Amino acid sequence: MSIIYQSTRDKNNKVTSSQAILQGLAVDGGLYVPTVIPNIDLDFDFLKNASYQEVAKVILSAFLDDFTEEELSYCIDNAYDKKFDDSLIAPLVKVGEHYNLELFHGNTIAFKDMALSILPYLLTTSAKKEGVENEIVILTATSGDTGKAAMAGFADVPNTQIIVFYPKDGVSEIQKQQMVTQTGDNTHVVAIDGNFDDAQTQVKKMFNDTDLREKMLANNKQFSSANSMNIGRLVPQIVYYVYAYAQLLKNGAITEGQKVNFSVPTGNFGNILAAYYAKQIGLPINKLICASNENNVLTDFFNTGAYDKNRDFFVTSSPSMDILVSSNLERLVFHATDNNDVETRDLMDKLVQSGKYEISDEMNNNLEDFIAGFASQKQTSDEIATISNKFSYVEDPHTAVANAVYDVYKEGSDDKTITVIVSTASPYKFPRVVVEALTGKTSELDDFALVDELEKLSGVKQPAAVKDLKTAPILHKTVVDVDQMQDEVEKYLKLK
Ligand SMILES: *Cc1c(COP(=O)(O)O)cnc(C)c1O
Repeated sequence: MSIIYQSTRDKNNKVTSSQAILQGLAVDGGLYVPTVIPNIDLDFDFLKNASYQEVAKVILSAFLDDFTEEELSYCIDNAYDKKFDDSLIAPLVKVGEHYNLELFHGNTIAFKDMALSILPYLLTTSAKKEGVENEIVILTATSGDTGKAAMAGFADVPNTQIIVFYPKDGVSEIQKQQMVTQTGDNTHVVAIDGNFDDAQTQVKKMFNDTDLREKMLANNKQFSSANSMNIGRLVPQIVYYVYAYAQLLKNGAITEGQKVNFSVPTGNFGNILAAYYAKQIGLPINKLICASNENNVLTDFFNTGAYDKNRDFFVTSSPSMDILVSSNLERLVFHATDNNDVETRDLMDKLVQSGKYEISDEMNNNLEDFIAGFASQKQTSDEIATISNKFSYVEDPHTAVANAVYDVYKEGSDDKTITVIVSTASPYKFPRVVVEALTGKTSELDDFALVDELEKLSGVKQPAAVKDLKTAPILHKTVVDVDQMQDEVEKYLKLK
C-alpha cells in the first residue's frame, strides 16, 4: 500500500510523502494530510523493549512509505544520536500519580528538537529522491522554540538556507540569546516588530506568492517550511506517543490495551495532532487534553464549536503557546468533516475573511476525543510551586499549563485513566518564571544568574546547552517591521 497525501483544501492536489515534505505547505494554501491512515501492526511485545530509534522506524516506514528502509535508517540514526543528553531520547518520569514524558533532551532543550533534528535529513533525502537540484530555502516564523531548533538542525547542511523570524518582544531572554548566537553560514535570524501571528501570516503569504516563487526558481531556489505544517515534522512526533505507551507497558504501569490520557500544552496544534494520529493508528488513548494558556482560542473552540481569533493577544509566561491562529487545527477540521476539502476550504476562507468560523454539530461529534482547558499565568506559577513542593520535580511553564489543566479536569471528572503530561521544555529555558514561581517573589537577577539559582533550587544540573550560551558571540542583529519581511528575504537571498 502506498500512503498518498492530499491538500486539506483540494482533493485533486495529491502527492507522495517526499513531495509533501519538500513542499511544506500545499500551493493552494492547504496542509498535506494522509488520505488513509496506514495500517500499522503495533506489536507491543516488540515495541516495549524497542529503542526510540526502532519505534521510529516502525512509525515512519508506515507513514513515509515511499522512503526505502535504508533512507529512513539514515535519517533516524543521524537525528536521534548523541545530541540528545539522555540515551532514552524521550524518558518517561513518574511524578506523583501521573507521568511526565520529557521531550526536552535535545539540542535546544525543548520538544521542537524531537522533529527538527530529523527534518533536515528527511528534507534533503526527499530532494534527492525527487531529483531536485535547487537550493532549499527554509522560511520559518517562530514563537521562540521552532526557530532555534530548526537552525540547529539545518546549520551548514549543504544546499540549504534557513531564515527565521521571531517576535522581538515575544520570546524569553534565553530563547533570544539562543537565536542571535546561532552559527552556520546558511542561517539568517531576523527580529520583527510584531507578534508571532504577524510573522506566521507573512511567512504564509510569501509561500503563496507566485511572483516570489518564480523569482526564486529563476535563481535556482525553492522554499520549504520547517514549521509544524510540514508533515516531515508531524509524523516524527507520533513516535514518542507510541514510545511512551510502550514504556508504561514495560514498567508494568498498564496492561496491553489499557487506555491512557495525554495532556498536551498546545500552541500551533502540531504536538497534540500527532497524538490524534497515534490514536488513529490504534494506540489505546482515552482523552487528548488540549491545554492552553490565556490565549485560549482552542479551549473555546472545543467547548463551543466556534473558532474566533478576534480577541486580545497576551504575551504570557508560556510564550511558545502565545498563538491565536493554530495552523495545524486545519488538519483536524479536515478530518472532522470526514475529509471534505470543499468544506474545509470554506471554513478556512471564513477564518481569513472574518477571523472566525463555526463547525457543524456533526463535526463536533467527531472531536469527542478532546478535552480542552486553559491555565492563567497565576495558575501556571502556582502549579510549578505545587509540583515542586509535593514531588521535588520542577516543570517549565508550558508543562505546568498542561499539568494544571489536567488537575482541573481530574478534579471535575471521574476519569481515573493513567495520564501522561507531555513535557515540552526544560525549566532551564524559562529560568525567570520558574525561579519566581518557586520562591514566590520577583527577581532582579538576569536570566543567566537565574539559571544558577535554579540549579540550587531544583538540584538538577543545568544542561550544557544553557551553560555555553552565556559566552557565545552575538551574530544576528537585524530587526525589521512586519511589512519589510519579504524585502529582507529578497535582500538576503540576493533576489533583487
Ligand atoms: C512549540 C511548543 C509548544 C506548542 O506545541 P504545538 O505543536 O505548537 O502545539 C508547547 N511547548 C513548548 C515548549 C513549545 O516549544
